[in-house]
Amino acid sequence: MRRISIFGATGSIGQNTIDLVARVPGEYHVVALTGASNIAQLAADAIRLNAEIAITAHDHLLSDLRAALAGSGVEAQAGSQALIEAAARPSDWTMSAIVGAAGLAPGLEALKHGGILALANKESLVCAGALMLETARAHQARLLPVDSEHSAVFQALVGEDIESVERVIITASGGAFRDWPIEDLAHATLDEASSHPNWDMGQRITIDSASMFNKAMELIETREYFGVRPDQIEVLVHPESLIHAMVGFVDGGLMAHVGPPDMRHAIGYALHWPERRGLPVERLDLAGIGSFTFRAPCETRWPALRLAREVMQTGGLAGAIFNAAKETALDEFIAARIAFNEMASIVEDVLDSVAGMPGHIDAAMTLDNVAQVDHVARQEAHRVAKKRAG
Ligand code: NDP
Ligand code: MG
Repeated sequence: MRRISIFGATGSIGQNTIDLVARVPGEYHVVALTGASNIAQLAADAIRLNAEIAITAHDHLLSDLRAALAGSGVEAQAGSQALIEAAARPSDWTMSAIVGAAGLAPGLEALKHGGILALANKESLVCAGALMLETARAHQARLLPVDSEHSAVFQALVGEDIESVERVIITASGGAFRDWPIEDLAHATLDEASSHPNWDMGQRITIDSASMFNKAMELIETREYFGVRPDQIEVLVHPESLIHAMVGFVDGGLMAHVGPPDMRHAIGYALHWPERRGLPVERLDLAGIGSFTFRAPCETRWPALRLAREVMQTGGLAGAIFNAAKETALDEFIAARIAFNEMASIVEDVLDSVAGMPGHIDAAMTLDNVAQVDHVARQEAHRVAKKRAG
């Protein structure tokens, strides 16, 4: 039986992964499932899938998890160290679907033990792309993209030489505020930012789609994963979310990946790779859909895209600073302490101020140094946000 682990099992990607795994009883041996606050879901899935171990990221929820698993034979653990230890358990395929920079350390640990790491946690590549790729290489582990755009590019590249790639186009729906007057963005509410026109995802990535921080992260993810230059990567607004990415080759041809907005496609592709197997996703009726539309992204509406380009130009640990500032600004918006359009200005201020502090951006890319700049950037983002509020 194939051994699998799912980090972030209680989230949107995690639940879609479990949906695919649970359809084929007897094919998988589930090693570890992890969650954070949703103990009832974590315990129910661990028991249903007969997992070896279930881990909550929150120490204070260990007794709740133990109680929920009592008599099931599933081991219970809690805390960030337990997540890393679980990632060290032998597994053939691991899903990295924790949200945020918290996904980096367990993903990195899984890579050190070989096997396949299916990567939904784009923050890992934004914060420490070179470290992730180098660790995978050193341990003969395989990193497979799960983000839909990157899965699409990966699929378009099968049988192609990366040298013949001229450009990579990743599409963006434009999120909740695509057609809002720009001056109204200052008054956008949490509820309005939390509803996506096409995709059903976790709350944080849904808000990041509305601000385009999600696409900004994906620009960096594309550069890290495929090794293309920043000027070769384009963002294209495509409101229908049916074309996920296109690869342009030196002969002028474009290969587009088309599919319904259902993450089970990209998850299933990574789960079954290098094979393709049947998946329970909608088959598109293209005649019924009629047309695909495109437009250029407006950088005044979405300054996050400009910031991502600056981060790619700076290099070093700028991605880790960018991500930490973005996560903190998002926390502040969710807590209603700042306006929607202040998230980008906070991130910009933090990038500027941390860049001026010696020994951060240019420190070597180790897990410790990433954690250190992450800490500094979060503190700085809190300070900037407080100053704005006050
Ligand atoms: P969700 O918010 O739905 O789920 C996040 C998961 O992480 C949950 O299992 C949650 O546990 C757990 N978690 C939360 N905080 C922590 C923490 N501090 N330490 C450990 N675990 C934690 O997110 P999504 O599933 O939407 O996204 C997961 C990742 O995949 C993100 O990196 C996102 O950018 C990426 N992604 C998601 C897509 C989507 O369609 N949803 C598409 C492409 C990429 P609990 O719920 O129990 O609190
Ligand atoms: Mg995506």
